[in-house]
This record gives sequence, structure tokens and C-alpha cells, in this order.
Amino acid sequence: MNCNENMNHDAALVVFSGGQDSTTCLFWAKRRFARVYALSFVYGQKHAAEVDMARSIAERADVHFDVMDVSFIGRLGHNSLTDTSICMDQEVPLEGCPNTFVPGRNLFFLSIAAVYAREHGICHIVTGVSQTDFSGYPDCRDSFIKSLNVTLNLAMDGQFVIHTPLMWIDKARTWALADELGVLDLVRNETMTCYNGVKGDGCGYCPACRLRREGLEKYLQQRQWKEKKN
Ligand code: ZN
Repeated sequence: MNCNENMNHDAALVVFSGGQDSTTCLFWAKRRFARVYALSFVYGQKHAAEVDMARSIAERADVHFDVMDVSFIGRLGHNSLTDTSICMDQEVPLEGCPNTFVPGRNLFFLSIAAVYAREHGICHIVTGVSQTDFSGYPDCRDSFIKSLNVTLNLAMDGQFVIHTPLMWIDKARTWALADELGVLDLVRNETMTCYNGVKGDGCGYCPACRLRREGLEKYLQQRQWKEKKN
């Protein structure tokens, strides 16, 4: 298949974990594209239930849902998201990556997403990575995404466009975006971001929960001020 000629420019594939960021991206994509696909990954994560949550959100969003098993990623390296013997870093270290970093995860996810997209004639790929709140993960940075976009196009002679709607916004603005898209409550109650596998507002103390909660509090406060002013 010549992906340049046969690609559908009305369709997008969202790399979808069922967390706050990718769920916001899913509804962002629904606003912009006629056909949206959500692709989740099983990579040996401790909280495999996140795939079931992702599936149920995709059903509610009425988008096509698929899961890829890439559990070799968990066996390749040692990190606290896939290895139950390692306790998760509760703080982002001053130097280096936190042990929640899964080396190669976004590289593999986006590469597989591109092959999947090509097979389905889709050229738009959406991912919820953010450089603003990147927490020390090098594969969430804009330079990596841009570089990979070029590489994927060269690898498959394609014209993929990787969209990163959250790249330059912080968690508060991600909540604002969810609100604009009319899904703030859905994102708040139905998604899971927590490293300890607790849905919605989460365990409250892991780094992912703290980032999510601080962003939500900041956004709700801003919204309240705005409502008072009007
Ligand atoms: Zn948590």
C-alpha cells in the first residue's frame, strides 16, 4: 500500500492509556477528526486493569479500540512500573530519570502506532506527552517527538503527522482543556493516572497523583475566579 496516496486525512489514531492526558487527547481528536481510533498497550505494567478502563472510556467515547501486547518492554529493563520488586520513586530525582521511567516506551508505542496507522490508512497520530510536566522522562520531549516523526516518515515512506496537544501546557491547562471539551468529570472520575493503580482522584500521594491534584486545584481555583469576575 502506498501510504501517501491512500492515507485518510480525516482519521486519527490516539496512543491511549486511559489516563488523564491520553483521555483528554482522545476527546481533542474527536473534535478534529471524523474517525478516531484508540490504541492501548499491555507492556507488563503492574496495573493491567488500566487497559480495561481504557476500553470502557473508548466505548463511552464511541471510538474504535484495540490493544497491542508489547510485554517484552517490561522484560527488557528494570523499572518500578513493571517490576514489582522495585518501590516507586516518590520524588523526581535532581539528576537522571525517576525509576518509573520505562526506557523506550514511547519509542515503541509510537513506532507500533505508526505501523498500525499505516495498515489502517491513517496519517494522524496523537499522543499526550508533555514537555512542561515531563517529570524527567526524555521521551516526552518535543525534540524526541519531532525526531521520531521524521524517522517514521523515512522508515515507511509515509507522511505521518504526530500531534501533541499537551506538549506545552501544564496539568492545570490540561484540566482546562478537558473542561472546554466537556469531559472534565469523565476525566476526573473514569481515568487512572495513579502509580498505585487507584482510579479517579487516586491514592493521593504518588508523584502522578500529586501532579494531577495540584493541576486540578489550580484550574478549579482559576475557574472560580473567572466565574466571580463575570
Ligand atoms: Zn497515586
